[in-house]
Amino acid sequence: MSEKKTALVISAHAADFVWRCGGAIALHQKLGYEVTIVCLSYGERGESAKLWKQGATLEQVKAARRTEAENAAAALSAHDIRFMDLGDYPLDVDRDAKMALVEIIRAVQPKFMMSHSLWDPYNTDHMGATRIALECRMIAQAWGHNPGQKVLGAPQLYLFEPHQTEQMGWKPDVFLDISEVWDQKRAAIECMEGQQHLWDYYTNLAQNRANHFRRNSGGQAGGRAAKYAEGFQSVFPRTVDEL
Ligand SMILES: [Zn+2]
Repeated sequence: MSEKKTALVISAHAADFVWRCGGAIALHQKLGYEVTIVCLSYGERGESAKLWKQGATLEQVKAARRTEAENAAAALSAHDIRFMDLGDYPLDVDRDAKMALVEIIRAVQPKFMMSHSLWDPYNTDHMGATRIALECRMIAQAWGHNPGQKVLGAPQLYLFEPHQTEQMGWKPDVFLDISEVWDQKRAAIECMEGQQHLWDYYTNLAQNRANHFRRNSGGQAGGRAAKYAEGFQSVFPRTVDEL
């Protein structure tokens, strides 16, 4: 019945969605989507070094990362952000947690999903999150899982750009022009006070991807003048009526 357009981002840690698909979140909210972000963990152990060096406790680190992520989600106008608090380094997703994620997927009924690269030898939480996203997508499609609930269709899973791209076996096949929401993405990036060393890196990356957007949308023969872009790798084939 509902014709609502929705999307679901599955982020291993509290900050990942900001660097990697903050523009996609803000842009799709502008396009009328309701984008839900799920943070499987706060990244409390592995991605919060600055807070640990300051002597914070585990609970303080988690609270600080949660606040940063909530502020970033608000800067991106995200519809909803959920925290599953499953722990990081290692991310440990048991059967109950998978079922909880399936519930979210079925409730959201995303038109598309986003998660990490399939391979990340520096951060097994990241590739673990993608494996869980694929597994839970599959369960959510099963008519025999909680019969009576609305089953999931076939949302694309877009893999967002990892850090140290070339090491990850990640190859983009989609570039998204995020120029019109760049200010929102930069504001969200600046919510990540514990990771200031990444702010300019991800600004530069968006500018470089915009160059690739221009090149692939026509280049010197009339490419779109994108200033900022994000790259994604899609997992599943598209079904089309025209090429
Ligand atoms: Zn992470």
